[in-house]
Amino acid sequence: MNQYDVAIIGSGPGGYVAAIRCAQLGMKTAIIEKYSTLGGTCLNVGCIPSKALLDSSHHYHDAVKHFEEHGIEIPGEVKVNLEKMIARKQSVVEQTSSGVKFLMDKNKIDVYEGLGSFADATHIDINKNDGSTEQIEAKNIIIATGSKPSTLPFIEIDKERIITSTEALKLKEIPKHLVVIGGGVIGLELGQVYRRLGSEVTVIEFMDRIIPTMDADLSKELNKVLKKQGFKINASHKVKEVTRDGDKVIVKADDKKGKEVVFEADYCLVSVGRRPYTDGLNADKAGVKLNERGQVEVNDHLQTNVSNIYAIGDVVKGAMLAHKAEEEGVMVAEILAGQKPHIDYNLIPGVVYTWPEVAAVGKTEAELKEAGVKYKAGKFPMRALGRARASMDIDGFVKILADAETDEVLGVHMVGARVADLIAEAVTAMEFRASAEDISRMSHAHPTYAEAVKEAALMATDNRPLHV
Ligand code: FAD
Repeated sequence: MNQYDVAIIGSGPGGYVAAIRCAQLGMKTAIIEKYSTLGGTCLNVGCIPSKALLDSSHHYHDAVKHFEEHGIEIPGEVKVNLEKMIARKQSVVEQTSSGVKFLMDKNKIDVYEGLGSFADATHIDINKNDGSTEQIEAKNIIIATGSKPSTLPFIEIDKERIITSTEALKLKEIPKHLVVIGGGVIGLELGQVYRRLGSEVTVIEFMDRIIPTMDADLSKELNKVLKKQGFKINASHKVKEVTRDGDKVIVKADDKKGKEVVFEADYCLVSVGRRPYTDGLNADKAGVKLNERGQVEVNDHLQTNVSNIYAIGDVVKGAMLAHKAEEEGVMVAEILAGQKPHIDYNLIPGVVYTWPEVAAVGKTEAELKEAGVKYKAGKFPMRALGRARASMDIDGFVKILADAETDEVLGVHMVGARVADLIAEAVTAMEFRASAEDISRMSHAHPTYAEAVKEAALMATDNRPLHV
């Protein structure tokens, strides 16, 4: 029987990063993945394919809507070849996944293909896809089994027309009308892909605003821009029934007054969140406790109730984000090596890759108010930037929230072009506990979208922006 210092179950961004860090730290490491491709949800049916389709659809949308105003004329009609678009996405996925396999080999990590199930706290049975079984032994085990799309109890996902994000990434036709249940990150990103390709897109959200967990100003701005792009957004609507009638999907919801509203579409994307995934893991055989939400219960060191078993990523509490899973993978590897790593969960940024993008880190205004923290806000509009006008990306703003007394930056919230990249500046500043004035005195290249960060900091410092 093969023996390891550490075995990791699941090869998503949590699992494969944990494996690399364990190997770097000198541990004999194995990783077990039930699918034939490595990389988990993120690489195969999440972050990467969704961004590939967002990019392709963005190019098409620009060609149809914006080339002319840039003085670019295309003789004839610009057309979408969906099959080719999906094939390009798939080749990006394959390249990225084989990149992970390369990293496993480079770091001398043993990869097992098959379903990993606990036999006990130090043994894992691997049920391989060819029907055979192998058992391995590991001193320490990291559960990184991730998550799967969830649904509402009364909705049956048929994967044909009532679909999750996984199917939405490989449709064979462009929907005429796509109803998206859930106005969160995944629903809006995939909704925007198909809106750009010509679908009518209707979003139904239970809460009173889209992206409800983010700062209210971000929701308001994104809502405004998406409506301009032709999205139909129905907030405060409670979906109560989703049925099929041939090629039609009928969605019934109650609006906030309790009045029934009926939506008819050819596709319905159910994007109401994701559930932690532990099916087939036999966690109980190792004595590992799950909580009432199905997550693996962990302490602040990501250790389960069984001392040699840890869990990371989507299968534990916290934001379901690839970079959060990666940080946790590194943290557990370093704990196993006897180090004392730390993650500041307040500084894990959240991003929506629509266009304009949305990005945030730290506290929202609502959170600061609830905690009774006195703060100052500086909010600078993108339209005041030369760079934004040059590219005609004038929607959005950067908002900086700083402590009213100390001027320490407490939260940064952005909508606009490339803010998914700009948020890294805010994370760096907050990691070093910068004040708004610190940011405002740093030189920002001109012309860039990043100048909005400096201007918002100037406004938060003592309301002295230079360009509004
Ligand atoms: P996962 O990536 O889910 O990987 C878990 C792996 O474990 C899977 O490969 C699974 O097959 C395997 N596994 C499970 N059980 C077993 C078992 N018993 N034996 C063997 N293998 C097993 N996050 C971002 O940060 N940015 C984004 O832009 C982003 N976009 C997204 C878009 C979509 C459409 C979706 C669905 C998600 C997106 N996410 C994004 C979320 C991100 O994908 C997850 O947060 C991330 O993948 C979690 O990583 P993980 O390692 O915890 O688990």
